Amino acid sequence: MKIALYPGSFDPITKGHISIINKAVPLFDILYIGIGENNTKKHLFPLEKRINWIKKIFENNPKVKVITYKNLTVDLCREIDAKYIVRGLRTYSDFEYEKKLAYNNQTLNHNIETVFFIPDLKYINISSTIVRDIYMHGGDISFFVPELLIN
Ligand code: ADP
Repeated sequence: MKIALYPGSFDPITKGHISIINKAVPLFDILYIGIGENNTKKHLFPLEKRINWIKKIFENNPKVKVITYKNLTVDLCREIDAKYIVRGLRTYSDFEYEKKLAYNNQTLNHNIETVFFIPDLKYINISSTIVRDIYMHGGDISFFVPELLIN
């Protein structure tokens, strides 16, 4: 079984994340979407909402499972037997940051490979941070997130 983990904050899940998930899913038997709870980031959307949105979006895809975690990503990988971490790349700065993360995770757990995907081009400029900002100022986020989040 090829098991992968896509960790992140998903605050909120965007069409960029969804593009990454759709590209990763065919390569694995199970893709866990891991919502990290223990980082220092302040969240805008409650955890329950973030979980339910992702569950609903992928309700017809039994390969996609949602999980939350408070420990290290590599320790979660051990628990769920994931040998692959999925991450998305948009920019050079993403690459620099993600490269560090991937090497550090490899140092902590030699059995893990990080696999990177680029999103569909139209979603490359989407970030949850910008979506949160637009949302907080009452702007229209419909281009950035699935319809489910608007209603
Ligand atoms: P984190 O707090 O770990 O950065 P995010 O939810 O912001 O969590 O992002 C999780 C992963 O998804 C990261 O690898 C990030 O680069 C990637 N990602 C976020 N938005 C996009 C996008 N629009 N296109 C491709 N990858 C993305």
